Amino acid sequence: MILGIESTAHTFGIGIVDNGKILANVKDSYTTEKGGIIPSAAAAHHKQVAESILYKALTEAGIEMKEIKAIAFSCGPGLSPCLLAGMHFAKKLAKENSLPIIPVNHCVAHLEIGKITGAEDPVLLYASGANTQIIAYAGGKYRVFGETLDIGVGNFIDTFARHAGLGFPGGPKIAKIVESAINSGEKLNYIELPYSIKGMDVSFSGMLTKLQQMFNSKKYKLEDLSFSLQETAFAMLVEASERALAHTGKKELVIGGGVGCNKRLQEMCRIMCKERNARFFAPSNDLLTDNAAMIAYLGEIMFKSGIKERNIDKVDIMPRQRTDDVEVRWKVLNILIN
Ligand code: AMP
Ligand code: MG
Repeated sequence: MILGIESTAHTFGIGIVDNGKILANVKDSYTTEKGGIIPSAAAAHHKQVAESILYKALTEAGIEMKEIKAIAFSCGPGLSPCLLAGMHFAKKLAKENSLPIIPVNHCVAHLEIGKITGAEDPVLLYASGANTQIIAYAGGKYRVFGETLDIGVGNFIDTFARHAGLGFPGGPKIAKIVESAINSGEKLNYIELPYSIKGMDVSFSGMLTKLQQMFNSKKYKLEDLSFSLQETAFAMLVEASERALAHTGKKELVIGGGVGCNKRLQEMCRIMCKERNARFFAPSNDLLTDNAAMIAYLGEIMFKSGIKERNIDKVDIMPRQRTDDVEVRWKVLNILIN
């Protein structure tokens, strides 16, 4: 059994995995009423909840600490104070229980957990608050085929929602506004917004400014703006994902990240995949948003390939680690073994 720790941003979580089966996935998130995340405050939150989350995770899994074989933790990318809080807790547990440590890349974990739904070699559309990337395995590494050139799609939606007085997180609130309008039979008008895609990269800041101006002008209904935001931003993500599928010749698309919970985005992905004979996979919402089960899940795959560190002083955080910096030794080892 592997215990995983997630602490890259707002969420502190602990997950426990046994042979690819998730036994526990517990988390607690730092939130703010106004403004964005304050890294030092989020880190203080993580330190404060760590012991109780551990207790809850062990209880949920119905196991004792001595049954754990290694501690995996998110080493990056993320906010340094938050990553440090997670790593210090991981090292404490490793020392107390004489266990090895496994540093796990957060983005790659979002992709690997998609395999729990049955995907084998997918393209990942990773759409979260701070990150927006299209990732796939090619030539011995996970490569970024496309990404946002400015802000993450979730931060983009959250910023507009805050501007419109909807509070945080804005993604689910915008989604609800559109869903309620559709369910009540209201006719929604599509308003053209800057559709910004360059090759496989996307950009959202132009659309954000335009939406804010339109909202301020009081000439547009929030329902129409929300609807148009979703249709335009998600079409960009789906277009870039389709191009990555075409380029790599892969036949599977997995979604990851909190924005991946959006039902309209999932529907658009499903339609695109159907049209090109590919399969679409969406893990459950608790595995889409930041979670520690995915860290334990990838940690176990790495552990089984012999990747672990007993000298825990050698382990450090990597706040700016890029997906394509990760040495994917476990895949190569698996190919050799099988
Ligand atoms: P993450 O960074 O992966 O934890 O995801 C958080 C982001 O997901 C925030 O920006 C949320 O607004 C966004 N989000 C969560 N649920 C939804 C939803 N149903 N539709 C759109 N965005 C969402
Ligand atoms: Mg994430």
